[in-house]
Amino acid sequence: MEKLLELRSVGYSYHTVQGETPALTNINFTVYKGEFVAVVGPSGCGKSTLLSLLSGLLEPEHGSILLYGQKLFHPGSGTIGYMLQHDHLFEWRTVWQNVLLGPEIQKKLTPAKKEAVADMLKTYGLYKFRDAKPSQLSGGMRQRAALIRTLAMEPELLLLDEPFSALDYQTRLTVGDDIGTIIKKEHKTAVLVTHDLSEAVSLASRVIILTRRPGTIQRILPVTFDSNLSPLLRRNTPEFKDYFNEIWKEMNEK
Ligand code: ADP
Ligand code: MG
Repeated sequence: MEKLLELRSVGYSYHTVQGETPALTNINFTVYKGEFVAVVGPSGCGKSTLLSLLSGLLEPEHGSILLYGQKLFHPGSGTIGYMLQHDHLFEWRTVWQNVLLGPEIQKKLTPAKKEAVADMLKTYGLYKFRDAKPSQLSGGMRQRAALIRTLAMEPELLLLDEPFSALDYQTRLTVGDDIGTIIKKEHKTAVLVTHDLSEAVSLASRVIILTRRPGTIQRILPVTFDSNLSPLLRRNTPEFKDYFNEIWKEMNEK
């Protein structure tokens, strides 16, 4: 498997007038192309900090982060897409204008690009709503639109920071299922951070468990299911409960 992302002894502290807050120490892991990695850990352990480092919003204080063997944001190192809890769709733009925003800004809005994006809207049930405004969509449809907007930029790596946590429980299950299925179908590589263990087990191929702040890796657990199972169907298997319990125990023992 091809190495896409590599973190070597990554550490980060926030510096404020109150002093130094170490958020992450000695983080080492590799993400291979096509993998779906979930990062779990207690609130405040540094999960969002980790994604900010991966997205290049923050620079590591220690260690290094490599994308295809090159330092992040070295020209040509590849692009990264970011999906957050809030979908950040623009209310004054239609769904179609929202999903084309990235290519428009990058001046890459070719007829072929428009067609590819229209195909994604069709495949994922949003084409009928292309002229609607985001406020006319359900929470789940908005998250799908936000994902298609991110995918329109053809990112090498997708970063997801608790993208379902603003949704009610029922919607969260179906949206998680949709998003997981789309990412797999489009052969994308993803890193999801979440405090929801069942979400991690339903979506990931590996789960990275972080300790309390300053977050460091406690354990990396491979998660394997029948490859035909969607995130929702994984939840009904006996292995699901075993993985959940194992992570739960790991997080509560230490
Ligand atoms: P998580 O996403 O796991 O809840 P965060 O990465 O947001 O955790 O935060 C990790 C730690 O860093 C927390 O203790 C938080 O209070 C602190 N922190 C986060 N952002 C800042 C900031 N901008 N300035 C100072 N401290 C921060
Ligand atoms: Mg967070």
